Amino acid sequence: MSDLPNVRAALDRIDAALLDLLAERSAVVDEVAALKSREHALLLRDLERERDLLSKVGREAQRRGLNAFHVVKIFRDVVEASVRQQESRLTRAANGIDEEPALLRVAFQGAEGAYSHLAGRKFFADRSEEPIFVGYRSFRQAVEAVEREECEFAILPLENSVAGGINETYALLGTSKLSIVGEEVWPVEHCLLGLAKVPLARIRRVYSHPQALMQCSEFLDGLAGASSESFFDTAASVAKVKELGSEENAAIASEEAGERHGLVVLRRSIANQRNNQTRFVVVHKRPFRFDPRIPCRTSLLLVTDHREGALERCLAELAKAGVNLTKLESRSMPATPWEYQFYVDVEGNVDDPRLAAALEGVGRNARYLRVLGCYPRKADPSREVPKDVDLLPDAAPPEPWPAGTPVPAESRVAYPLAARRATDPGARTPVKVGDVVFGEGFVVIAGPCAVENEAQLFEAARVVREGGGRVLRGGVFKPRTSPYSFQGLGIPGLDLLCRAGLEYHLPVVTEVVAPEDVEKVAEFADMLQVGARNMQNFALLKAVGQSSRPVLLKRGMMSSVEELLLAAEYVLSAGNRAVVLCERGIRTFETSTRNTLDLGAVQVLKARTHLPVIVDPSHAMGVTAFVAPMARAALAAGADGVIVEVHPHPEEALCDGPQALTPELFATMMGDLRRMAQALGVKMA
Ligand code: PEP
Ligand code: MN
Repeated sequence: MSDLPNVRAALDRIDAALLDLLAERSAVVDEVAALKSREHALLLRDLERERDLLSKVGREAQRRGLNAFHVVKIFRDVVEASVRQQESRLTRAANGIDEEPALLRVAFQGAEGAYSHLAGRKFFADRSEEPIFVGYRSFRQAVEAVEREECEFAILPLENSVAGGINETYALLGTSKLSIVGEEVWPVEHCLLGLAKVPLARIRRVYSHPQALMQCSEFLDGLAGASSESFFDTAASVAKVKELGSEENAAIASEEAGERHGLVVLRRSIANQRNNQTRFVVVHKRPFRFDPRIPCRTSLLLVTDHREGALERCLAELAKAGVNLTKLESRSMPATPWEYQFYVDVEGNVDDPRLAAALEGVGRNARYLRVLGCYPRKADPSREVPKDVDLLPDAAPPEPWPAGTPVPAESRVAYPLAARRATDPGARTPVKVGDVVFGEGFVVIAGPCAVENEAQLFEAARVVREGGGRVLRGGVFKPRTSPYSFQGLGIPGLDLLCRAGLEYHLPVVTEVVAPEDVEKVAEFADMLQVGARNMQNFALLKAVGQSSRPVLLKRGMMSSVEELLLAAEYVLSAGNRAVVLCERGIRTFETSTRNTLDLGAVQVLKARTHLPVIVDPSHAMGVTAFVAPMARAALAAGADGVIVEVHPHPEEALCDGPQALTPELFATMMGDLRRMAQALGVKMA
C-alpha cells in the first residue's frame, strides 16, 4: 500500500515522457508538411506505408509482450492526428496563411455537449488553442452569426445515416452566401442520463430533442409509465434535468453532455439503429483553397429546367469527365411546389481543371448552378487509417488458383444466376465481407459454435485474430436437435458479437433462423449464415435474399449439390448477389464421423458456379482431432476458405465442445495452412 504513491509518481513521469515524445513527433510532422508543401510531387498519404508502419508496430508490441491490438489502436490515432496536422498545414499554405489565426469563434446550434459541439471540437482539434464555441438556439441564428462576423465558422448537421438529410441545413445552405469549407463525421451514441443510478422503472419523464426521441422510440416504448418531452436540444435537455433536480427525470443525449452536468449514464446505446452517424459541414464567409493532394468533395446546388432529360444531361457532363458522384438529393423549391432543386456532391477539387471543365458543362445544361463549397473528404471509409494490419511475418506470394473445367450447359438453365457464364467461364464472383474478400485468397472463419458470454467470446476473438483468422463466427440462435439443449443467447448475443468484432477488427458472421429476424441480425452482423437445417427454408432464403448483407449458405445434410445451387438461386434471384457456399458434410451410411465430408463437392461446385465455396470441417467431422487435417485437405481441394469452431475452453463449451479446436490447436492449424498455401501458390486472405 505504502508504495502506491511512488508507483503513481513513476507512472506520471512515464506519461510526461510520452507527451514529450508526442510533441517531438508533431514537430517532425510539421517538417514533413513543410517539405510536402514545397515539393508538389510528394505523395500526401501512402496507405501501404501506413499499413506497414502499423503492422511493424503491432509485431514489435507482440515481441514486448504487449496487447498488440490496443497498441495498434493507439498508433492508428497517432497516424490519424499526423494526417490531419499535415492537411491543415498544407491548407494554410494554399491559402497564404502564415500563422495560425488568433482565437476562433465557432457557432453551433444547441448547448455545450450537443453533438454539433462535439463534432466541432473534433474538427478543430489540431489547433493549438481550442476555439470558443458559441451555442445558438437555431441553425439560422448560427448561420447569421457568421454572416454578421460574430463568429468565423459555424458547424451544422447536414445528414444522419439513419434519419437522412436535415432539411433546415439544406435550406440555409441554399439561401445564405456562406461556403462549406469542411466536413466532420460524428458517431451518435444516445444515452439515457439521470441524476442518479436509479432503476429504469422509476423514470417518469424523458427530455430530449424530437429527433433523438424518435431515434430511440423502441427503447422508450419499453419504458412503461414514462412520458417523452420534446426539448430544443439534446444537451440542453440534460441541463433541464439537472435543474429540475428530480431522479424521476431523464434526458437522452451524449455521454459527454451528461458528464458536463454531472449526470450518470442509466443506459448506453438506446437508439433503434446501431451505427448511427451524422455528417456535419463547417461554413465560413469565404471559400478555402485546398492542396490538390488532399482528396476533396465539392457540393453543388443545381436547378434544371422542367424538361425531360434535363437532369440526365447535367449528370452526363460529370460522368464524361470521370467525376464520381457521391450524393444526389432532391428538395422541393420553397416558392414553387412540385419543382425541385438538387443538392449534388462530387469527388474532386474545384481547382482541378477536369472538375472545373465538368462544372462548366453542367452549368451550360442547368438553369442555376452554385458551388456550395469544396472541402476535404472525411466521410470516406477509403481514407481511414488502415485497420487490417498484418501481425504475421511471411505472407505467401499472391497467385490465382488454376482455372476450372468446362461449364455444364444444363446448369445455365436450372440456375442461371448461380451458374458459371458460358461467355466468361473463368469469371469468379468475389464476395466482400467487411474488408475480407472471399474468392481472393483462402479465408479462415473461426470462432465458437455459440456465443456464450463476454469473456468466452472476446478470448475466442483474440485467439482468432492473433492466429490470422479473418472473420469471427459465433451463433446466437442455435437450431439444436433437442429442444432441451442450449438455444443460444438470442438478440443480446448479437451485441456481444458485434463488439468483439469491432474490438479485434474482425467482420462477424452469425446464423439467422427466422425470416422476421433477418433485418435485426443484419444490423449487427457483417454476414448472414443460413444453416444446414434451413437450406431449404424458402421463406428464409427469400428474406436473406432481400438483405444487402452477404450470405453464407450451408449445404443441407441431406441435400445434393444441385439442391444447394438451387437454394443459392433463391437468394440471388431475390436480389442479393453476395453468396458464399459451404460444404459441411452430409448424412451417409457411414457413422464413424458426425457427417461425411464431401470434399469432391468443392470441385463439382467450382465447375458449376462462379460463387466462392468454403468447407466446414468442424461440423463434418465432429471430432477435434480431425478438424485441422481436413481443413488442410479443403485447401488442397481448391476451396476458397474454411469455417472452424474454436473455443477457449472446449471442455466447458455449451455447444459442440467435442469438435472445438483449442487456442493452441487453432494456432498450429493456421501455421500449417500458411505453409501449405505458400507451397501451393495460394494467397492467404
Ligand atoms: C453452425 O455453423 O453453427 C451450424 C449449426 O452448422 P450447420 O448448420 O452446418 O450444422
Ligand atoms: Mn456448431
